[in-house]
Amino acid sequence: MIVVMSPKSSEEQLNHVVELVEEMGLTSHVIHGTDRNVVAAVGDKRQVDKGAIENCPGVEKIVPILAPYKVASKEVKQEPTEIRLEPSGAVIGGKALGIIAGPCSIEDRNQTIDIAHAVKAAGAVALRGGAFKPRTSPYSFQGLAEKGLEYMAEAREETGLSVVTEVLTVPHVKMVSMYADVVQIGARNMQNYMLLKAVGEQPKPVLLKRGMSATMEEFLLAAEYIIDAGNPNVILCERGIRTFEDYCRNTLALTIVPAIKKVSHLPILVDPTHGTGHAYLVEPMSLAAIASGADGLVIEVHPDPEHAHSDPAQQIKPEQFKELMEKVKRVATAVDRTI
Ligand code: PEP
Ligand code: MN
Repeated sequence: MIVVMSPKSSEEQLNHVVELVEEMGLTSHVIHGTDRNVVAAVGDKRQVDKGAIENCPGVEKIVPILAPYKVASKEVKQEPTEIRLEPSGAVIGGKALGIIAGPCSIEDRNQTIDIAHAVKAAGAVALRGGAFKPRTSPYSFQGLAEKGLEYMAEAREETGLSVVTEVLTVPHVKMVSMYADVVQIGARNMQNYMLLKAVGEQPKPVLLKRGMSATMEEFLLAAEYIIDAGNPNVILCERGIRTFEDYCRNTLALTIVPAIKKVSHLPILVDPTHGTGHAYLVEPMSLAAIASGADGLVIEVHPDPEHAHSDPAQQIKPEQFKELMEKVKRVATAVDRTI
C-alpha cells in the first residue's frame, strides 16, 4: 500500500509512519515527491491494521498498489528515476541518453584500455566488459576474473568512464562491487533470487538484463527484489527474448520499452548486440531502440571481432561504433533527447 502524506505534514510525522509500518513487519520505502511525500509499505500484509496507519497525524490517505511489483511501479512514483553513474557523472533516465560500450569479454590489458579510449571518444559514458562470463559451454573462454576487473579499473582511471561488469555468483558480489561502478545481472541470472538480494544489499547501481524467457511482469518483479533489498538504483535492459525465430540470436522485443515506461519509473536501456546476435543488425536496432524511447544502449565493441574470445559475430568495430553514434545523435534529437 501507499501511505500518502499530506503536503503540510512534518518530517516527524513521516518518521512516525515509517516506524509504525516497520513495527507491523512491512518494509518502508520513502519517496520524496515534488509536492508531497509517500511511504510505500510492502511485504506480508496479514498482520497489518490499515486503520492504525490511516489514523496517524499527517496521513492523507492510503492507496493500495495494484501492480504485483510495488516499489518498481509508477503507482508509487510518477517521476522517472534518474541514476547517476560514478565517476563519469552520467545520469541514466534523464534527458541525455546513456551509451555503454565495450567488448563482450575483457581479454587483455591493451584491448581494454584501447577500447575504452575509442568508445569514450565516440560519446559512450561507460565501459562494459565481462570478467566473469556466463558461457553456454564449459569449454568456452570463461573470463579473466579479478585480473579483468583490474584492467577495467585501470581503463576507468585513464578515461573517466564508469565501469559496468557482470557478477555471476553471490560469493563474488563483494569483489565485483568493489571494482565496478555498475554491477550487471545477466539474462541467465535474472531469476536468481539470492543473487538479486545480494546486489540489492551492495551500494552500486545494478544493470538488470531481461531473462530470455521472462515476461515483463517477471522482469519487474526481479527489479523489485533488488529494490526491496535496499538498492533503488536499478537500470533495466532489454536484450532480446527466445522465440521460434532463428535468423537472429534473439528477438529484440522493443515494445517492452514504451510498455515499461507506462507502468514503471525505472530507466530502461536496450542491448541490440545480444538482442540480434549479428553485427549488421546492431546499428538499425540501436536507432529503433532510441526512437522507441529507450534511455540508452549497451553495445559490444571489439577492435578485432573475428578474433574475439566470445561473441565474434555480433561485435562491431570502433569505427562502426563511431558512425552508429553519429546516427544515434540524429534520432535522439528527433525524439527530444541528447547524448
Ligand atoms: C553480456 O552482456 O555480457 C551478456 C552475457 O549478456 P546477456 O546476459 O544479455 O546474455
Ligand atoms: Mn556478449
